[in-house]
Amino acid sequence: PDASALARAESLIGSIPDYPQPGIVFRDITPLLADAAALRTTIDALIEPFEGRFDVVAGIEARGFLLAGAAAIAAGKGLVPIRKAGKLPRPAATVSYALEYGTAEIEMHDDLPAGTRVLLLDDVLATGGTLEAGRELVARLGAEVVGTAVLLEIDALGGREVLGGDVHAVFHV
Ligand code: AMP
Repeated sequence: PDASALARAESLIGSIPDYPQPGIVFRDITPLLADAAALRTTIDALIEPFEGRFDVVAGIEARGFLLAGAAAIAAGKGLVPIRKAGKLPRPAATVSYALEYGTAEIEMHDDLPAGTRVLLLDDVLATGGTLEAGRELVARLGAEVVGTAVLLEIDALGGREVLGGDVHAVFHV
């Protein structure tokens, strides 16, 4: 994707101070998603480094789903949801991870064929805990994470170090 189209897409990401709680700047990707050209450009940039190297796209609930659906269609691949605990109807693997307060659990149906090459997606990389848990989940099923990609990385929160530096971010803040 060309630089000016990407810059225009980036300009559509909103910053909402003190949401959902005081002190947090919420990065709102919905204006970018609502713009056809920006969505196309962003999805292309998200998957470009991994083209031809993955079998399915896995998106993390909830905003990761929005990107994963579009990315899977663009790449001609299937989509696997990684859901918050208790939402999947069939046997699933579970990984728990620490949040600032308390813990969270994510799940994936346990029938992903061993060796499946997975591109793991989410909207925002903050501390890295969510994507790290996603990687562990895929690994637990015997599949392989061939790439981890986000639309926006919040550089100051150090998520990249948690992920061993191995993450593709289209935009940074
Ligand atoms: P983390 O596990 O800390 O990397 O947090 C990443 C998850 O929390 C992602 O699923 C994001 O959707 C969400 N998230 C964290 N911080 C923000 C933020 N400032 N703006 C929007 N979403 C965020």
